[in-house]
Amino acid sequence: MKTELIRLSELSEKAFAEAIEKAAEYIRNGELVGIPTETVYGLAGSAYYANAAEKIFSAKGRPSDNPLIVHIAKATDAENIAETTQTYYKLAEKFMPGPLTIILPKKSIIPDTVSGGLNTVAVRCPSHPIARMLIEVSGHPIAAPSANTSGKPSPTTAEHVYTDLCGKIPLILDGGSCSIGLESTVVALNGEDCTILRPGAVTEEMLAEICRSVSVAEAVRSPEKAGNKPLSPGMKYKHYAPNCQVILLDGADEQFISYIRKNAKGKYGILTVEENEDIYPTEAVRLSLGKKEDYAEHCRRLFKLLRRADELELTRLYAKLPPESGLALAYYNRIIRAAGGNVIRIQEEHNK
Ligand code: AMP
Ligand code: MG
Repeated sequence: MKTELIRLSELSEKAFAEAIEKAAEYIRNGELVGIPTETVYGLAGSAYYANAAEKIFSAKGRPSDNPLIVHIAKATDAENIAETTQTYYKLAEKFMPGPLTIILPKKSIIPDTVSGGLNTVAVRCPSHPIARMLIEVSGHPIAAPSANTSGKPSPTTAEHVYTDLCGKIPLILDGGSCSIGLESTVVALNGEDCTILRPGAVTEEMLAEICRSVSVAEAVRSPEKAGNKPLSPGMKYKHYAPNCQVILLDGADEQFISYIRKNAKGKYGILTVEENEDIYPTEAVRLSLGKKEDYAEHCRRLFKLLRRADELELTRLYAKLPPESGLALAYYNRIIRAAGGNVIRIQEEHNK
């Protein structure tokens, strides 16, 4: 299959509308389109069609028990596909449109294939204008996981989507780089209480302003604790891993730097903050996350840098273990999976 990539920013108003209509027609016909959202690029198909979902699983190489998020144009559209609650609407008022996904009991109009056989469905209302336009113009809610090969870092540019899915889908809409750069926060509700199944730009603290209580599923911080029947099926699969080995170091800045000086070998790179770029040995490839503690920027750049590490054919990539609170938790959750849980406690190594 030939894959067309349309750069929307280069189009006249008329050509832009035609491109959206072309994508909408693919969606109505059960075909797939790569689309920008504010979180990461999505692989979009109609959430009404089981065969569109099957194509999504097959193009990504995604296990079919890992359910898809259904994207809607406005919060009240959830009524068509799920059983809503008061807490849903309270959260929606504050965070929709935006990077929050809420798990709700599913209505039968959504095929079981979309929900991976579960009787719940994940609902999100994206804020990205192109994603919203496509939902509205197609007239379909859109099932869209990240538009990458399953297990690889998620795509934050149209080029990333092209690299992973060229020849497997007919169209990619290029809307530039994603402003958030990692996936939505996923929550499950129990009355007024909520559990974070995947951390994102809507943080624990932000949710606590609305919900009576907020807990964080254990597997968010410790992937090895997901088990065989996790709260969210996605928790049990390998995620976000580049070809190179990601090694997380737990220690203070000085310990991190001296560990690299003593131990780093091969063609290696460092995920570094701007302030420390000049400190490392000359052979180290520096991949900058932005300013120290600017976790929004770290989130925005992480997946791009993991892909960059592979383009540079690095064998190892060293990074500092981030804190586990606020927005840093989202970054932590992705990088610990990218590292396959590989954390070296520098202090302990030192004491051996
Ligand atoms: P992605 O599609 O790559 O953004 O991943 C979606 C995430 O949401 C995966 O971790 C899924 O397991 C999770 N998810 C989707 N639907 C449900 C659901 N009904 N119940 C629990 N988790 C879900
Ligand atoms: Mg994904």
